[in-house]
Amino acid sequence: MTAADLGPIPWANRLNRLLDQYHGIHGGLRYPVDVEFLAQQIPQQFNTGEPILVRGEEISPDFEGCLLKLDDETGGPPSWALIYNKGLPSPGRIRFTLAHELGHYLCHRHLQEGFNCNEFDTLHWESPERQLEVQANKFAAYLLMPRPDFEAQIHSAPVDLEILGACAERYGVSLTATVLKWLEFTPLRALLVMSRDGRVQWARGSESGKWLAIAMNKRLPTGQRRSLPAQAATMLNTTSNVDRQGTEGSARIWFADEPEDMSLREMKIVSDQYRQTMTLLVLPPEVKPWERDKRDGDDDEELENTFDHFVRNGQPPVR
Ligand SMILES: [Zn+2]
Repeated sequence: MTAADLGPIPWANRLNRLLDQYHGIHGGLRYPVDVEFLAQQIPQQFNTGEPILVRGEEISPDFEGCLLKLDDETGGPPSWALIYNKGLPSPGRIRFTLAHELGHYLCHRHLQEGFNCNEFDTLHWESPERQLEVQANKFAAYLLMPRPDFEAQIHSAPVDLEILGACAERYGVSLTATVLKWLEFTPLRALLVMSRDGRVQWARGSESGKWLAIAMNKRLPTGQRRSLPAQAATMLNTTSNVDRQGTEGSARIWFADEPEDMSLREMKIVSDQYRQTMTLLVLPPEVKPWERDKRDGDDDEELENTFDHFVRNGQPPVR
């Protein structure tokens, strides 16, 4: 396999091994990753023969960055211009943009001559027509927040927005990007809900929380986005913009199908800058409807066997 065939995740892992070695020998801060420095080293390190020129410019706020091929007029190998918007309001967004464009250079420069990357925000991560964008985002997330290091940061404490905020600082990226990365690997049933004026904009779940996210993203019959539940802590506690540790509340306030005695932890941060509210929900493991009777002390073996039989045959019992 040639380097050009590597996908975004193997590329990011490869660069992380290189950075581990480099900082192991020379010291210096391993995090956050200095993407601009890395971009300049890559053509030589990997013998691509196609240099990268990195330049920041003040451009309109919707523009994130781009990667453009600069043909050599003498017929030699091309070079590439990586241009980022230095007017973006947070250094975290700039770092993510640089890493995203570097992902295009490593994985996609054989496919296109230019990549114009506007608002490659989380809303579009999964739209099928934007596979190259999805891959560049994946590369950026894996490069900037390697999972082994991320796991080491969070392993000793219950995860909340305090500890995820500290990770965002360590990796020099936005809190949203950090939470999304955490959701990719956490075994917890968790869900991020972004809202504006009390209405869901989008939601993303962990593997075990993906059905909750699907429910939250589902539009109303009118086509409108769902409102946050009126009894949710995010809606009730309006005196404070921040609840990093979270408030316990009944899971049923958010999800009517959850057991009556289940509680969830609800954390939130209101961002005035983006007129957006971030709510992070963490729930206990799912209790299947056919397991609930057992919890209530109902040991009807025959019923249980029937359910097991259904499940073994791939037919989940109807709720
Ligand atoms: Zn892009």
